[in-house]
Amino acid sequence: MPLPNLPYLDRPLILLSNREPYEHVHRGGGIEVRPPAGGLVSALDPILRRTHGTWVAWASGNADRTVADDFGRVSVPPEDPAYTLRRVWLSEDDVEGFYLGFANSALWPLCHLFVSMVDVRRSNWKSYVRANALFSAAVVQEAERIGGAPMVWVHDYHFALVPATIRRTIPGALIHQFWHIPFPPPDVFGILPLGVQGALIRGLLGNDLMEFQTDGYARNFVDCLSRVLPDARFDADEARIEFEGRATRVGVFPISIDVAEWARLAALPRTIEMSDTLRQRYAPGARQLVVSVDRMDYTKGIVRRLRALEHMWRSEPERRGTFTMLLVATPSRTDIPVYARLEHDVLDQIVRLNDEFRTLDWTPIVLVHDNVDADLLAAVYRAADVCVVSSLQDGMNLVAKEFIACRTNGTGVLVLSRFAGAADELSSALPVNPFFIDAFADTLGVALDMPAQERASRMAQLRHRVSNATIEDWLDSILSAAEAAGRTLKADAAAL
Ligand code: UDP
Repeated sequence: MPLPNLPYLDRPLILLSNREPYEHVHRGGGIEVRPPAGGLVSALDPILRRTHGTWVAWASGNADRTVADDFGRVSVPPEDPAYTLRRVWLSEDDVEGFYLGFANSALWPLCHLFVSMVDVRRSNWKSYVRANALFSAAVVQEAERIGGAPMVWVHDYHFALVPATIRRTIPGALIHQFWHIPFPPPDVFGILPLGVQGALIRGLLGNDLMEFQTDGYARNFVDCLSRVLPDARFDADEARIEFEGRATRVGVFPISIDVAEWARLAALPRTIEMSDTLRQRYAPGARQLVVSVDRMDYTKGIVRRLRALEHMWRSEPERRGTFTMLLVATPSRTDIPVYARLEHDVLDQIVRLNDEFRTLDWTPIVLVHDNVDADLLAAVYRAADVCVVSSLQDGMNLVAKEFIACRTNGTGVLVLSRFAGAADELSSALPVNPFFIDAFADTLGVALDMPAQERASRMAQLRHRVSNATIEDWLDSILSAAEAAGRTLKADAAAL
């Protein structure tokens, strides 16, 4: 991926995320290193290499300790060391309480507006506080090792308390945080215990810049903060919050993907071959292929997607056999009971629908219940006539953008939930409200019947949008906005 120039990045960079970029695992009597998995980690890795920065993250590999030094440091990438990975060890109790507990059973459903699933426990909150302190201490220790006032870039909802903690220890640090998921409105945020609300907001105000995916999430954050801390002042023109003599800016930076890399993958001969095989198997002749790609998560609207299909096949029997649904659903967070239940429900529903509607030469729904690599995903995106994203709430949804990037031939229809962050940008997709089952089925029908010319014109607009807002653009705009926030800080300090 061509990197932005980063002329402005004049401080040492320390990045904090829950997931680590390289994981060491025992395999076949030796130790194997797993390179960055997932789009974000792959996008951030080159920045760390270029700046020789430091990445602080949870040590999730079972051989991580063996290869790290006494401080948990290891140089990566292993074949050509360019930066330091500082690993943080969590006890089993903290993995359960901090990660599975408070982060993923309280904050995750809360931010995605699944109020009835929010599960707050005192012990999980304590564990979240403890883990945030551990990660903060590791960041501070790395800053001391490097010297100077670093830029600390914090990622996501696992670390709401970290910015204020680091701020207390290194007042001159430039700290900013990207909140990958939605931020809830005050009435939803307000279901957390009062003390927890205050601690989270005060923690986040340790940042110089808070980064959100959409205007709506940024507005929600400001509304929550005004309710929780009535003394905080918000200047809307400057997008600047002032509280207790410090300023935090709020910005909107919709995340994207490595568009060129997806386009390259989609055009490889082996991808084309895989894509042809998928079509021959599931969409021979005039039959169409509808695809979806998600983690098995209740926010993705998989159950409602299946209900819409059921509604369609019942109310319009002539649609049976005209398309196959290829549903890629990757197992996720299976240690949390609601996820295990969801998996069970989805599998059950698919078996039932296939039993009811299948014919001699047609299986209505094909489930791929596995983690699919980018090569095969590119083939799936390429093979599809229609891609359905039916999230009930979603910070952004990168699948929507990946599908568009892979449609190098300019065809294909994207059906996109109004409740995915991506809908703000991708206005030429077919919008869908996944809560309104009949209308969802109608929209699927519109997608399947869409004339070639309209498909091409919508896809051209989508491709234009995605090509002009890539992951490089995202990195560039965030890092330059963070630097600008740092410069204003210096100016403010000099004026005092
Ligand atoms: N993904 C993958 N293998 C799979 C399913 C998904 O690599 O089997 C990737 C997909 O390419 C995308 C990411 O996982 O980059 C999912 O991101 P998205 O924003 O759509 O949802 P999230 O999982 O972050 O909520």
